[in-house]
Amino acid sequence: MAGMNKAPAIIMLGQGSLATAQRIQQCYPQAVIHGLQGRVDSADRYYAVFGDTLRALYQQDTPIIALCAAGIVIRTLAPLLSEKGVEPPVLAVAEDGSAVVPLLGGLGGVNVMARELGEALGVNAAITTSGELRFGTCLLNPPEGYALADLEQGKRFVSDLLAGETVRVEGDAPWLDLAQLPASDNAQRTIHVGCARRPAKRDELLIHARCVVVAIAVGEADLLQQVRDSLQAAGIAEPALACLLASEVEMAEPSLHEAAQALNVALRFAPAAESLQQMLGAVLPQARIESVGGLAVAIAAAPVEVEQLGHRRGRLAVIGLGPGAAELMVPAVKTELARAQDVLGYETYVRMAGPFRADQVLHCTDNREEMQRARHAFELAAQGRSVVVVSSGDPGVFAMAAAVLEALHESSDPAWQRVELQILPGVSASLATAAQAGAPLGHDFCVMSLSDNLKPWSIIEQRLDLAAQADLVLAFYNPISKARPHQLGQALEVVRRHRKAHTPVVLGRDIGRPGQTLRVVTLGELLPAMVDMRTMVLVGSSTTCTFPRVEGGEWVYTPRWYPVKP
Ligand code: SAH
Repeated sequence: MAGMNKAPAIIMLGQGSLATAQRIQQCYPQAVIHGLQGRVDSADRYYAVFGDTLRALYQQDTPIIALCAAGIVIRTLAPLLSEKGVEPPVLAVAEDGSAVVPLLGGLGGVNVMARELGEALGVNAAITTSGELRFGTCLLNPPEGYALADLEQGKRFVSDLLAGETVRVEGDAPWLDLAQLPASDNAQRTIHVGCARRPAKRDELLIHARCVVVAIAVGEADLLQQVRDSLQAAGIAEPALACLLASEVEMAEPSLHEAAQALNVALRFAPAAESLQQMLGAVLPQARIESVGGLAVAIAAAPVEVEQLGHRRGRLAVIGLGPGAAELMVPAVKTELARAQDVLGYETYVRMAGPFRADQVLHCTDNREEMQRARHAFELAAQGRSVVVVSSGDPGVFAMAAAVLEALHESSDPAWQRVELQILPGVSASLATAAQAGAPLGHDFCVMSLSDNLKPWSIIEQRLDLAAQADLVLAFYNPISKARPHQLGQALEVVRRHRKAHTPVVLGRDIGRPGQTLRVVTLGELLPAMVDMRTMVLVGSSTTCTFPRVEGGEWVYTPRWYPVKP
C-alpha cells in the first residue's frame, strides 16, 4: 500500500486512549505506540514534548495516528504544511475509538488507512474526498506496482468524472475491479494502464505499470544515461521501470548503486551468467527480453514483484546506542534499528535497543563471544539481510566495531566483502559522564580500558604511568570486575605517583539509565569499593578544578589552556 511502507506511529496523550491504541495496533502489528512521559505507562516508546515528536515523525514520513482532537494535530503540523509536497498519512482518532478522521496524506493512502481503521474500530471513517466517495478508490493513488504519469492532469481527469463524464479502462487494472466507476464502453475518457513511452492524451488518465527490469553491468559508459537510452530505444516510459538487476559479483560497485538511486528504483542481484540477457531470463523466465544498447531489458506482463526478484545487497550496521537514554541515541541509529531484520548483541544492550517488531529476529549472546557474533552477523548479511550489531555507547570504543572489522579482515569469503558495512556512532560513556559533571575532558585526555582480558596487565600499568606522567585527564572504562577486584587499586597506585591527592575524580554510574548516579570525589578519597563495572571513572589532570553549583554538588572542568612552564 502506498504511504504505508513505514510502520505507523500511534500517539497517546493520556492513559484513557490505551484500549483504542491497542485495537489499532492489532490492525497494524508493526505500529509503535508512543506515550506521553508521565501520563502514559504502557506505551512502546515515550516522548516528552508532543509538538516536537509529532513534527519529527511527520518530517520522517512516518504515518501518524494521533489519539486526540483533530485541531491539536492541525495546529501542531501547520507550520510544516506549506513546505511539503509528499506527505505521510495523518489521522486523528477519537480517544474512545468512536471517530476516525483522515487529515493529511491523500496521495499517501490516508483514506485507505481511515477505512481500515474504521473497520477495525467498527465506525465509519470521516472521508471527505469527493472522488474517493464517489468511486470508492483514489484514482490518483494507484497501488504498489503502478505509477501515475501526471498528477495535475489526473486531478483534471477526476473533476471531469465527477462532473458526469463516463470512463473506460484500457489495459490491466485489477484494483479498479471493485471501484464504482461511471463505466461505459464508448466513453470519451480512458484510464490507460501500460508501460509504453508516450505523452498522456488529453482525455486520458495514464498509469504506468512497473513491469520493466533492466539488467546492467559496470562498464565505460555512464550507466544512468545508458539505462535511460535503452528505455527510450525500447519505447518504455521511465516510471515503468520496476528495478535494476546486476550480477552479484558486482554487488559492491558504487556506479550501479548510484544509477539505481538516480532512477529511484531498487537494485537487485542475480548469479552471474554468460550475458545480461541470460541473467535476466533466469530470474524472469516469462518476460519478453530485448538487448538494447549493451543492456538487457525485460518486459513482464504484470508489475514485477521486486522483493521476489533475485536478492538484494545485504547490509551490516554496527551501531552505538549511547549510554542508555533514548534522547541520547543519534537519529541515524534509530532509523537503522527500524530497518533491521536481525539484531545481534549482548542481551542487555539488545533489550535496551528495543522494542522490536514481531518480524525482527533477535540473536542475544553472551558478552564474551564477540568474534563469533561478528562472524554470525556477516553470515546473515551475506544472505541479503539487514543486520544490526548493537553496542552501548559508541561501537568503536571498546566494543563491536573493531571485532566486526577484524572478522572481515580475516575472511576471504567474497560474499562477506560485498556486504554494505556501516558503523554508526553513539555517545560514549566517557562523554555522557563528562557532560553531566561539566567539562572534565575540556583539555587533552586519554581513554583506557582497565580490563586485561585482551591485553597484558603490564601494558596497562605502563600506559597508566606514561599517561599520568603526561598530565592527561584519564577516562577509565571497565575499571573493575568481580573477576579482577584488585586491579583498580593497583592502577590507582600508579596514578597517585604523578597526581596530587586533591585531584578531582568523577564517578558516573549507569549514566543515562534508570538509577544513574554521579559522584565527585578526590583522588585521595577514591576507593575501589566506590566503583563497579557499570561505572565510568574520570581522573582529572593538574589543571582540573571544581566549584559549587547552585543546585548542589559541584561543577568539574578542565580549562582549555595550559600554563606555560617557567
Ligand atoms: N562502547 C561503550 C563502552 C563499552 S566498555 C561506550 O562507548 O560507552 C564498558 C564500560 O563502559 C563499563 O565497564 C563502564 O566503565 C562504561 N560504561 C558503559 N556504559 C556506561 C554508563 N551508562 N554509565 C557509566 N559507565 C558506563
